[in-house]
Amino acid sequence: MADEAIEREFMEYDVVIVGAGPAGLAAAIRLKQLNPDISVAVLEKGSEVGAHILSGAVIDPIGLNALIPDWKEQGAPLETQVTDDQFLILGPAGSLRLPNFAFPPLMNNHGNYIGSLGNLCRWLATYAEGLGVEIYPGMAASDVVFDESGAVKGVVAGVFGIAKDGHHKPDYQPGMELHGKYVLIGEGVRGSLAKRLQAKFDLCENAEPQKFGIGIKELWEVPKEQHKPGLVVHTLGWPLEDHTGGGSFMYHWGENLVSIGFVVHLNYKNPYLSPYDEFQRFKHHDEVKKHLEGGKRVAYGARAITEGGLQSVPKLTFPGGALIGCSAGFVNVPRIKGSHNAILSGMLAAEAAAEAVGAGRQRDVLESYQHAYRASPIYKDLNKVRNAKPFLSRYGTIFGMGFAALDMWTTTLLGGFSFFGTLKHKKTDAASTEPAAKHKPIAYPRPDGVLSFDKLSSVFLSNTNHEEDQPAHLTLRDPSVPIKVNLPLYAEPAQRYCPAGVYEVLYDEQGNNPRFQINAQNCVHCKTCDIKDPSQNIVWVTPEGGGGPNYPSM
Ligand SMILES: Cc1cc2nc3c(=O)[nH]c(=O)nc-3n(C[C@H](O)[C@H](O)[C@H](O)COP(=O)(O)OP(=O)(O)OC[C@H]3O[C@@H](n4cnc5c(N)ncnc54)[C@H](O)[C@@H]3O)c2cc1C
Ligand code: SF4
Repeated sequence: MADEAIEREFMEYDVVIVGAGPAGLAAAIRLKQLNPDISVAVLEKGSEVGAHILSGAVIDPIGLNALIPDWKEQGAPLETQVTDDQFLILGPAGSLRLPNFAFPPLMNNHGNYIGSLGNLCRWLATYAEGLGVEIYPGMAASDVVFDESGAVKGVVAGVFGIAKDGHHKPDYQPGMELHGKYVLIGEGVRGSLAKRLQAKFDLCENAEPQKFGIGIKELWEVPKEQHKPGLVVHTLGWPLEDHTGGGSFMYHWGENLVSIGFVVHLNYKNPYLSPYDEFQRFKHHDEVKKHLEGGKRVAYGARAITEGGLQSVPKLTFPGGALIGCSAGFVNVPRIKGSHNAILSGMLAAEAAAEAVGAGRQRDVLESYQHAYRASPIYKDLNKVRNAKPFLSRYGTIFGMGFAALDMWTTTLLGGFSFFGTLKHKKTDAASTEPAAKHKPIAYPRPDGVLSFDKLSSVFLSNTNHEEDQPAHLTLRDPSVPIKVNLPLYAEPAQRYCPAGVYEVLYDEQGNNPRFQINAQNCVHCKTCDIKDPSQNIVWVTPEGGGGPNYPSM
């Protein structure tokens, strides 16, 4: 994959980690805890650690407890404990609260903490640096380097100064190779290197297709008298139709902050659907606006979330490295939680790598990580909920949720057994999109500028920035497909599924001659286009390091 013609300098480490999310940072910390002499480098494409992290987040502390048992005394930024946990079904004009006892204990949020995963990562990074981990923000790992046996030897990072047309600008830097005895891929959902490694080593051969949702989130500051620290509200239903999966979260935490977000499962069929506009109109429901009224929106962003669960987890290891966290898809979908498993998987991979390095090994397959995963709390967590997503996909939100709740009770009470075995997902999300001819356009209300907003003012709040004169990081396998195939067949859904207004179809003054425009500088790195494009024609690759959103406390 790496460009053989370019001579690059290289640096040698015991372990190289791509991505400073909870998975990558947990791996780095665990390596140093086990052996302070192990050299560890972590590469992060965001301008700083946390800049690209977007999550809910209600955090199950099981991972943090295992990694840093005295995290509270050490000052980890998780101060708001869950005090009230509500689950609502919304209709257009009302709501129904489901009793908490309808759900098995695994769905209970008491004992969990509300906070910003980005801020937790910032804190974990400082902790890791204190142990001697080298962290390089603003460094996108853009390529993989292999040794002569075909094992992963390292990654290329820090390529800067290439112009849009490919010529080298005066500030051109060819980047560096960071070689490791092992390389851990913690890029999060739909990682660009993870995707290529999964293909090269057939890691998904025995797994169901990975499933995804798009999560769009805003952070609000609300009047003090309206703020209920510790309140967690999840909703299903309106404004989505029953056969479109998704739901919302509202978390009250910190100093008068409310994290509000909306997830749409990306297996939706109607290409006219716009997850962004669904979220905006959702905020006008009486049950929702009462949380926000009189408040001020302070941040916006979006990120895909893995939803395939247990049956979509690929093989975790390949010669020279392993997948950790959401690059392997460890999200527990009904709980909407993945950060605990990200931390636990980083720790397991680190334990396997530390043992191998200690034994003088390098660039082989870390079999012990794969075995440890099978016996771990991650596997148990995902096993209990493995049929929830397939039920939702097959039977819609109301019946699907009913079946899912029954099945989760069964797996909880019968040690993982389900009468349904393990249900399949069958299709990719891209293949779930149906032709526009089968659907009607959706007329979304105009944003009022108080509760709901247009895309551009939202992107402004994500502090997104990219160097403009650089090769497109949203690449098209065939540039003719958006207008020749996607427009007539699917009304080019990229215009609607992208939460940052990156893709536009523009016409001349007579309304003819459509052309596809990509406003790449607005991209918030959510990865939805790479997942949902019905022609699988868009390939997301890393832009220059440091580009992308600059999320504050997301
Ligand atoms: C809307 C939403 C709500 C959620 N709510 C919750 C919740 O309430 N509780 C919960 O526990 N989980 C929640 N999750 C899931 C949780 O956020 C993820 O499971 C978790 O972030 C995964 O951690 P990770 O380390 O694998 O990946 P990430 O957190 O995504 O971190 C990956 C990091 O790698 C960097 N990176 C990626 N590619 C490269 C590259 N090539 N080079 C350099 N750097 C790279 C990224 O910039 C990023 O900083 C939610 C997710 C979403 C989208
Ligand atoms: S261009 Fe793709 S990755 Fe970027 S914000 Fe839009 S959908 Fe997300």
